[in-house]
Amino acid sequence: MPRDPRFDPLFTPLRIGPVTAPNRFYQVPHCSGMGHERPHILAAMRGVKAEGGWGVVNTEYCTIHPTSDDAPYPIQTLWDDDDIRQHALMTEAVHKHGSLAGVELFLGGQRMANMASRLPPMGMASQPVLTGDPLQTRALDRQDIADIRRWHVEAARRAVKAGFDIVYVYACHHYLLHSFLTKENRRGDAYGGSPLNRVRIVRELLEAVKEAVGHECAVALRWSSNSELPEDQDEWLEMTGSLDGLPDLWDVTVNDYSLEMGPSRFVKEGALESNVARIRQLVSGAIVTVGRYTSPESMLRLVKSGTADFVGAARPSIADPFLPNKIRDGRFDDIRECIGCNICYAHNSRSVPIRCTQNPTMGEEWRSNWHPEIITRDATRERVLIIGAGPAGLEAARTLGARGYEVALAERSREPGGRVNLESKLPGLAEWARVRDWRLGQISKMPNIELFLESEMSATDVRDFDAAHVICATGSTWRKDGTGRATQAPTLDPRDPAIIAPEDIMRGHVPAGPVAVYDDDGFYLGPSLADKLRNAGCAVHLVTSAGVVAPWASYTGDQAAIHAHVLAQGIACHFNKSLLAFSSGKLDLGCVYGGALASLAVAALVPVTSREPNTTLFDALKNDAAFKSITRIGDAEAPGLIAHAIHAGHRAGRRLGRHEGMERAARDRGMGLMAPQ
Ligand code: ADP
Ligand code: SF4
Repeated sequence: MPRDPRFDPLFTPLRIGPVTAPNRFYQVPHCSGMGHERPHILAAMRGVKAEGGWGVVNTEYCTIHPTSDDAPYPIQTLWDDDDIRQHALMTEAVHKHGSLAGVELFLGGQRMANMASRLPPMGMASQPVLTGDPLQTRALDRQDIADIRRWHVEAARRAVKAGFDIVYVYACHHYLLHSFLTKENRRGDAYGGSPLNRVRIVRELLEAVKEAVGHECAVALRWSSNSELPEDQDEWLEMTGSLDGLPDLWDVTVNDYSLEMGPSRFVKEGALESNVARIRQLVSGAIVTVGRYTSPESMLRLVKSGTADFVGAARPSIADPFLPNKIRDGRFDDIRECIGCNICYAHNSRSVPIRCTQNPTMGEEWRSNWHPEIITRDATRERVLIIGAGPAGLEAARTLGARGYEVALAERSREPGGRVNLESKLPGLAEWARVRDWRLGQISKMPNIELFLESEMSATDVRDFDAAHVICATGSTWRKDGTGRATQAPTLDPRDPAIIAPEDIMRGHVPAGPVAVYDDDGFYLGPSLADKLRNAGCAVHLVTSAGVVAPWASYTGDQAAIHAHVLAQGIACHFNKSLLAFSSGKLDLGCVYGGALASLAVAALVPVTSREPNTTLFDALKNDAAFKSITRIGDAEAPGLIAHAIHAGHRAGRRLGRHEGMERAARDRGMGLMAPQ
């Protein structure tokens, strides 16, 4: 479909310094869990973004000196000339599609522990590092300031040799340059004190980098739109204005990651827009900003209003690398919208390559050879029966349909979606329904996929169906017997009517009287159920085997926000507790560290401990020789995140009937160091 001319502003090239961006879609620097250790995986991932229409594609944070390493997190490096080659893989992959490549030069300061280089991290004063490691920074001196300038210039020159078109000076997010800007900078020299002194280092770096490479590269500044403290805002704006005219491009964000990249539960689309509009009044250079924009109309509004010149994106470009091309081609309903779950970020936090709940090909472009838009139509017209239309079943159906199989998808319920239907009704998680809705939209366009609702399948039904292949995507059920992580054996009588399954709470059951949610799972579900019950008027206790609410959410970046929300809701929290017994309204708890026993008087208990895979159907059929293949996938195989289920469905769809041997992922152990063959 030809492009709607209304969207022309998003496709108008824009000059930034000596280079020209082909359109207004800008993938801002974002971590990938790949860094310098996995250059082929990284280059393929960034290249696919350019192929999908992102006119500018950046690296993740790229340290320019060993005094700044973020081990064990995978990070980019431009420490010496040996780094040039691996970056060139990325810039070539991006240039191949006519896009610009940018690099975010970086020094970490107090946020680094330098666990790999073992050099003392630098800070404004000798203070504890913010990683929680038992180490303090060393206070930097005048020589260090001269070195910082030299390192930036040397790294910028290497960046040009590697083929980059945009070089960043990175002055926010509490990293080293940002610490010069705050009032905590108590230097008594020309780099501390007044706002203009504190911003001096940023000015000097912009000037030095421009002088070194500004004739070939655009120089960008990553900058916060506001000060840390509201009372410092005037000074912040003074510093901002003083830099006007220096950067070719302002990448305007906020220092606070929990707002910049907050999950959809707490932060909605376009959250920074009013802040950025204020910066627009002060500076004349081009502006890019993020806001988890997935709606073409919102993007158009952002650019047309003049608030920003580029639509910045990390997560929307992860969930859909082809988002710009889909807008260009008027394929709006094909856009795979980010759900704001931050599973992408969580896996950088776990030091492994990025992945995405919505986009199962993310991070698999090179090692599994998966393309986000291309699924080769290679199948004979064999019949595949998939049982269960949760995320795993829906994704398997979509993938197999694209390959040309005759797919029947049977679902017991009236609504397809499985666990997504329930979980997306929890407070703040409505956007998670996009997992279901995007797949249903795609499936509806494929005449070779039939969806049968209200169709509970027995083993006999499956045999009668006469499919060549059977995939059981029958999901899992939360256990009510207390088996979990802290307590590995049953402690509860699941027949007790006062023990309520998480699914029942999600379906709307509200127990009478005070209720305890026992969370041994450690992520979003326990606190979300507590929140839902509190909203329904219950007195709620959140009892957990962990020392904080939702410990795994530290990887997704919202542990603190979830914990604070639970407290603000008036939910009573009990930490480090193991589940001993529950009967007659009395919940007996142990201490995971061997401390005192405790008990709570509650009318109902909701155990969020672990799940039982639903394998009855698979077990009845697995040895049946009538089928060419029978498999179980997703939660029916190994209960996990929605992201696990989507990946499992996609993998099953890609691999059915293929005999490819080991995947590249297994062969190179995920390191991506070997060249593709
Ligand atoms: P996953 O996350 O692995 O996709 P879900 O629990 O979200 O798992 O989805 C499993 C789906 O399978 C649910 O919608 C459930 O209703 C459906 N299901 C389970 N058993 C059967 C069955 N025997 N026949 C049809 N549908 C089933
Ligand atoms: Fe968005 Fe979640 Fe994918 Fe990250 S993992 S890009 S937050 S859908």
